[in-house]
Amino acid sequence: MADQTLASLAAGLKARKYSSVELTKAFLGRIEHAQPALNALVTVTAESALAAAAAADVRIAAGTAGPLTGVPIIHKDIFCTSGVRTTCASKMLSNFISPYDATLVGKYKDAGTVMLGKANMDEFAMGSSNETSFFGAVKNPWDLAKVPGGSSGGSAAAVAARLAPLATATDTGGSIRQPAALCGVTGLKPTYGRVSRYGMIAFASSLDQAGVITVSAEDAALTLQAMAGFDPRDSTSVDVPVPDYAAELQQPMRGLRIGILTEFFGEGLDPAVEQAVRDSLAVWQKLGATIQEVSLPNLPLSVPTYYVVAPAECSSNLARFDGVRFGHRCEDPKDLLDLYKRSRAEGFGSEVKRRIMTGTYVLSAGYYDAYYLKAQRVRALINQDFRRAFGEVDLLVGPTTPTVAFGLGDKTSDPITMYLNDIYTIGANLAGLPAMSIPCGFAAGLPVGVQLIGPHFAEGRMLAAAHAYQRETDWHLRAPSGWAADFEPSTTGGAA
Ligand code: GLN
Repeated sequence: MADQTLASLAAGLKARKYSSVELTKAFLGRIEHAQPALNALVTVTAESALAAAAAADVRIAAGTAGPLTGVPIIHKDIFCTSGVRTTCASKMLSNFISPYDATLVGKYKDAGTVMLGKANMDEFAMGSSNETSFFGAVKNPWDLAKVPGGSSGGSAAAVAARLAPLATATDTGGSIRQPAALCGVTGLKPTYGRVSRYGMIAFASSLDQAGVITVSAEDAALTLQAMAGFDPRDSTSVDVPVPDYAAELQQPMRGLRIGILTEFFGEGLDPAVEQAVRDSLAVWQKLGATIQEVSLPNLPLSVPTYYVVAPAECSSNLARFDGVRFGHRCEDPKDLLDLYKRSRAEGFGSEVKRRIMTGTYVLSAGYYDAYYLKAQRVRALINQDFRRAFGEVDLLVGPTTPTVAFGLGDKTSDPITMYLNDIYTIGANLAGLPAMSIPCGFAAGLPVGVQLIGPHFAEGRMLAAAHAYQRETDWHLRAPSGWAADFEPSTTGGAA
């Protein structure tokens, strides 16, 4: 069952090969087995999971089940879950229990999914290695000495180790795609505004996007169907119809114009990663797609632009965590100022503090024009580059990351090197474009991801290209050994 996708597990439930309770018990068993080594979850909700699974089994028996009813899911701990602790992997929120569900969590609940727990992540989603979590780093299931990527490293590690067939995630500068690449799973960041941000703890509101990590592109299409759509409670949610993504998966590859970005194949790209990505292009070519090179001359400016815009927005979003309105409160404050200062000093980790300080600086009266305004202008130029490129091609393809997973601790002392990890992913966030990463091979025994970027709301086309690739290859079905294999659900009992 280790190789099973969400689609096949859902089919198994429907065919009554096993019940949701059996499936849930099997996945909870895997979590118990893997958690001490991987640290992929912050909270495990075994009891409520079994209750939700029993309710799902009733729906299945009554014939009122939807496509995801009874399927286990893990939510990134950035999404508010009513009654269940939501920490954002910060000491600041280590005892926060939200009184409501994020829109996305509510949609998955309505769909009948079974929440197994909350995934570990970088603190407030700031990081590329999961090492900034207050709850400790997540380990890469392919090699415990390596990082899983970040910030959605818990989600990616959990799906890679088959602790759940899907995990929700968020992507502000690459946090779905980069860990998906480093853990050998499929990661989808939809168009900005396609999926509601209501109840998702804000990092940089003009860049943040909710999405999902799954085994396959087909699974990503199934889950996007459940979470996409307009939400009046999110003012940046976009009111455009949600297509039938499963039907869109069948789009033909013949005549599809794929652009490869000159800027993504330069210095800094590991040759073994480049080789795996170039090999993947040959697969689409064989299916009838054409490949041409396109240039986005302003793209190399995306990392410095992001590291002005994202900290600026985070410094204002995180102002609410002051020990009064939200978050950790220090002991015995002398006065109000002391309460603010010590609560924030104690509650936030050092990367979060670095971002808040940078953000406050670039927004300050004397430096606003020189940094923030300049960054917004460059962002507009990057947007224009993408618009021009999508006049020539239907999809852009390139590497997701410059290297495979690096060692735990290798980059923690040098933030700039850490920031450069997102060099290929940040552009899509600055322009609000849908993008995904799918497994395309291995280098030095570790997974490599290929990235697809589409025009706004072209998720269907992008998923179709990923699905076509996954029908020709089996990289996405490879799972690291040692985690899931011992825990098979009983296939004899059937549903009650
Ligand atoms: N790694 C990037 C950062 O540290 C992106 C994080 C994200 O997408 N949430 O900001």
